[in-house]
Amino acid sequence: MEESRAGRTPVIRRRPPRDVAARLQLADWIRSGGMTPETFDEFLAAYLDEGTRLHHPGYLAHQCAVPDVPSSLGDLVHGVANNAMSLYEMGAAAATVELAVIDWMLTMLGWSPAAGEGVLVHGGSLANLTALLAARAVALPDAWEDGVSRRAVIVAPGTSHVSIARAVRIMGMGRRGLVAAPTDDRGRIDIGRLPAVLDGLHRDGATVVAVVANACAPATGLYDDLGALAEVCTAHRIWLHVDGAHGCSALLSPGLRHHLAGIEWADSVVWDAHKMLRTSTLAAAVLVRRPAALGQAFGQPADYLFFDDQRTGIDLMLRTVEGAKAELGLKLFLNLAWRGQEGLGEYITATHRMAQRLWELVRDHPNFETPFPPESNIVCFRHGTDDTHQIRVRDRLIAGGTHHLASSLVNGRRYLRATVMSPATDESVLRDLLAEIERCET
Ligand SMILES: *Cc1c(COP(=O)(O)O)cnc(C)c1O
Repeated sequence: MEESRAGRTPVIRRRPPRDVAARLQLADWIRSGGMTPETFDEFLAAYLDEGTRLHHPGYLAHQCAVPDVPSSLGDLVHGVANNAMSLYEMGAAAATVELAVIDWMLTMLGWSPAAGEGVLVHGGSLANLTALLAARAVALPDAWEDGVSRRAVIVAPGTSHVSIARAVRIMGMGRRGLVAAPTDDRGRIDIGRLPAVLDGLHRDGATVVAVVANACAPATGLYDDLGALAEVCTAHRIWLHVDGAHGCSALLSPGLRHHLAGIEWADSVVWDAHKMLRTSTLAAAVLVRRPAALGQAFGQPADYLFFDDQRTGIDLMLRTVEGAKAELGLKLFLNLAWRGQEGLGEYITATHRMAQRLWELVRDHPNFETPFPPESNIVCFRHGTDDTHQIRVRDRLIAGGTHHLASSLVNGRRYLRATVMSPATDESVLRDLLAEIERCET
């Protein structure tokens, strides 16, 4: 961690699997065994050297958390104790810790823990599927028994995460089950045009299972207007699902909270701890505003697991796609216990401030352009205007090992995308980034 934070090593290596496997002598170890503490040390050094360093100041790529030490300790505890606590009897402490952090998250949304419920699952993608299954259980109560036998749709902007489209297909709603919400030129839901789309679907006899909002959109980092969406959804009696996997953590920052105004009116929210709450991958919360909604999503008896004994506590498996489940709550709990809600909020504020600074540097530079100011810690920008040049720039940076960027499409054009995740990223790193990019020939 210290070596990565100092930024003297490459942030990323991306050598082909054949070379990595040869260096790590994988086939030999698998065939012969016999690793000792000494050879483990050597193996680990090479293993980390061939990996990606998220603690590095030049790490600006994907939205994976830079884990905080308490969360890493939580991983170690789970790795040893393995209290796979989806059945309460498999880990009373782990399950109780999870319920406590869920109650904290419900409270952060402005919901009463008594009125809502939630669960932690293995990732935002699974969390979106789980939340949309709860929405389906309300809109199509027979679907669990009879399948989806009529046209049912989910309305989501084209900028929503790929897991939304996957969830629609997994739920058996097919290609026509995903309807594009009308959007503005930044990919945000156009509230003015949404009611007509919903009315049209209603006239065609389709059941709208949910409207999905971005908070924020993964490609652009922009938030949908949750308050206005909630009004439209309430008037149409449609479930509003807010995908806050990345951006819900802005609730912890007093200066950023306004982006989520109205979230208290959502029916379900997904909020990843492994993005901005600094736990390792994965720990994603599914939060619903009515009690028992998750249980209803999984209306399935399992007579070898559930029977009338003297059980105490809640079997969280009744709320999840997963069977066994890791001690996900412990990681988030330890981060909160260590830094406090305010300490985590300061980290979030700082990453957003650094993203704003990057945007200002890019805006003021004649060779760069940017489509809009950031609302989160995600910044889209480009060097020149050629689409393929952006991809070449990214590849060059990765090969040089100084900075690791991602890339996204905005309005069909290719951009570089920086997400400030590492507490080690400061303004000099951002200035170096632009200088490095300038060295890439157009
Ligand atoms: C990251 C992200 C997801 C997916 O979460 P995973 O944990 O990677 O499965 C879904 N939605 C949004 C908005 C995201 O940013």
